[in-house]
Amino acid sequence: MNYDLHTHSTASDGSLEPAELLRLAGECDIDVLAITDHDTLAAYESLDVAGSTPQLVPGIELSTSWRGIGIHVVGLNVDPGNPTLCHGVEVQRRNRIRRAALIADRLAKKGIPDSLAAVSDSSGSDYIGRPNFAAFLVAAGYAKNMREAFRKFLGPGKAGDVRHVWPELDEVVRWIVAAGGIAVLAHPAKYRLTRTKLRSLAGDFRAAGGQAIEVVCGAQSDSTTASLAALANDIGLHASCGSDFHNPDFRWSRPGRFPALPDDVQPVWRLW
Ligand code: AMP
Ligand code: MN
Ligand code: MN
Ligand code: MN
Repeated sequence: MNYDLHTHSTASDGSLEPAELLRLAGECDIDVLAITDHDTLAAYESLDVAGSTPQLVPGIELSTSWRGIGIHVVGLNVDPGNPTLCHGVEVQRRNRIRRAALIADRLAKKGIPDSLAAVSDSSGSDYIGRPNFAAFLVAAGYAKNMREAFRKFLGPGKAGDVRHVWPELDEVVRWIVAAGGIAVLAHPAKYRLTRTKLRSLAGDFRAAGGQAIEVVCGAQSDSTTASLAALANDIGLHASCGSDFHNPDFRWSRPGRFPALPDDVQPVWRLW
């Protein structure tokens, strides 16, 4: 069975409608797909979860903050109608609106006015995020492409990097657990933490009720996979895998395009 347990649709910053993403995943030989949009479950409003092919595992990717660092937690096999989780999604929607205003203020101080109006027009009702600002910065000529927009204005340490709006790690884990889901620490290698700090994060995450970690997320080196598998086994976390797919134009990220999980980990799907 082929699992891809981390993907994005137009409900957040992906480019494919949920049904198109499901179809592409089928073409890519995925048997079990989780659509895990940033801080929203809106993709599941338009899908028949019980009757879909590939099989759908309802999911979400929640933004949180740990020691002031922006961390993402994927919730898998959640009940999309659970009141606690839906409340959490509403909290995040407001956090995103509040954050967008803060990002726009900071960009204005850098000499880039009027971004909030442009971004509010282009974003959906449930998701407003840095990719919307990046698209505005490119369209308005402040950056050559999305990458440069993040490098100059939105990435770590830059004006648009506003993280303090996000709830603490244990709160988002609580929402996922309340919805009957499994909390998964997303793309641990992407935070660029030292080994010691990553171990502290994984330990705090497990103490908060987290049960799994992405041992594989998208293209990554064999040594990264091996060290994350060792971390999962040391801390006592199950292992998840996903592409973090956003857009078919990015050739390197297709549904299912990532290395296999090592044999010596406990796959997260054993938990459901
Ligand atoms: P947000 O959820 O608003 O914090 O936006 C984060 C999203 O921006 C991530 O999920 C990525 O999809 C995207 N992103 C982050 N860094 C980059 C980058 N360097 N280039 C393009 N997109 C990026
Ligand atoms: Mn994204
Ligand atoms: Mn993420
Ligand atoms: Mn993601």
